[in-house]
Amino acid sequence: MNKFILAIDAGTTSSRAIIFDEKGSTVGVAQHEFTQYFPKESWVEHDALEIWNTQLLAIREVLKNTKIKASQIQAMGITNQRETTVLWDRKTGKPVHHAIVWQDRRTSPICEALSKKGKAELFYKKTGLLLDAYFSGTKIKWILDQDPEVRRKAERGELAFGTIDSWLIWNLTDGKVHVTDATNASRTLLYNIHTLEWDKELLDTLEVPKSLLPKVVSSSEVVGQSHSGLFDHEISIAGIAGDQQAALFGQMCIHPGEVKNTYGTGCFCIMNTGETPVISKNRMLTTIGYQINGKVTYALEGSVFVAGAVVQWLRDQLEIINTAPEIEALAETVENNGGVTFIPGLAGLGAPYWDPHATGSIMGITRGTQKGHIARAALEAIAMRTREIVIEMQKDANTTFKTLKVDGGASTNDLLMQIQSDLLQVEVIRPQTTETTALGVAFFAGLATGFWPSIESLSSIWKVDRKFTPQKGSQNENVIKTWQQKISQVTNA
Ligand code: ADP
Repeated sequence: MNKFILAIDAGTTSSRAIIFDEKGSTVGVAQHEFTQYFPKESWVEHDALEIWNTQLLAIREVLKNTKIKASQIQAMGITNQRETTVLWDRKTGKPVHHAIVWQDRRTSPICEALSKKGKAELFYKKTGLLLDAYFSGTKIKWILDQDPEVRRKAERGELAFGTIDSWLIWNLTDGKVHVTDATNASRTLLYNIHTLEWDKELLDTLEVPKSLLPKVVSSSEVVGQSHSGLFDHEISIAGIAGDQQAALFGQMCIHPGEVKNTYGTGCFCIMNTGETPVISKNRMLTTIGYQINGKVTYALEGSVFVAGAVVQWLRDQLEIINTAPEIEALAETVENNGGVTFIPGLAGLGAPYWDPHATGSIMGITRGTQKGHIARAALEAIAMRTREIVIEMQKDANTTFKTLKVDGGASTNDLLMQIQSDLLQVEVIRPQTTETTALGVAFFAGLATGFWPSIESLSSIWKVDRKFTPQKGSQNENVIKTWQQKISQVTNA
């Protein structure tokens, strides 16, 4: 009987379930979107029960559509939108508040107050993270502070905290297993990435009771079984990783110095730094890449909040394209950017600026400026923001990359990939499977259960679709020089 691995990809906008075979090929996919709540400006919430229900539906659907029985699933792995915070009642299993999503900025004042008290250094040293609303810690504090009864319950040990991985595993196991993996824990501001423990000093600083927290496990180990009522057979849960870390592994960046960049709504660039956590001097994050057999592999991470979102903006607000992929043909109608620079600070600027107040701008417009120039400048903007991050990472890690592995929706844009290769002067490699996030966590689950014998055996599954080799030219230098002048005009960071 053929066996398969099930990957659960619990994303920011949808719940997906994907079945992979032994060759790492996708056998089936099911997907359900769920509601995004925006109760106030800069607040973003999800209904955790809806996430669970849509996820369950997606799993049942993919099994049904592929006619694969649960007994044929060797194991499942879970990869998830990171940092999004759920608190629920251990007895009833009901969330005590909507999940606060990673994009939500409501806890910025908490971060600013802690920074004023000089706490940023403490968090950075222990967690490798900047004291920012993006991470879970201050979101937990906010949920506890908004209702005294919630805090009392937490202090009595009646509540549980989890990122979406924990929440789904709790539900899959009918409340028997409360765990998270090291990659997800490393995004909470509460987990010491050096000692690999929840950190008392950080918990005290954020007033988070320890009893809320899940047990931290490896990214690749059997943590439990789905409970018998859910599918026609129990399924082992054997892999967990935050989405970007899962993509790092799915791209087979398994040696120090290997790096992947995901081009989605934002860009997430992560480099494997091996057994040593590299402390950034350039405002990159130090994080856990993955943990296998107890051994941690560290990573450096830089994120751009607005990347593919620029293309969405051109489509939905400026309406110069009807679909995202059309931007490629539009940008091809011109030979260069015609002097236009697009600074994509539509939601502030992330690494290395970390300037929440920066705004976007399109500069250098003349009477001769065409739509194509703006489209081209937008693609250059995505590539330039990535370039800035890659350059800072190289400085931190004291290395130069020769290749960049890419994935995500916008990586299908050949022109963008060529621009990226030219502006970075590195080879850009796009794999055949763009489902690298799901594949990465399938790898973790498969490794833990003997579906694949070793990390080395996975390397033959990862296959190149296309390589983009750098072309030299004065045009690249002009783009870089003008960009650097223009971006300094929109940020004080
Ligand atoms: P996410 O996982 O963040 O939702 P995806 O990986 O699905 O993102 O990628 C979607 C993003 O990529 C959107 O922002 C979209 O505008 C952009 N995108 C999709 N196709 C293209 C393309 N061919 N060229 C440029 N951008 C694209």
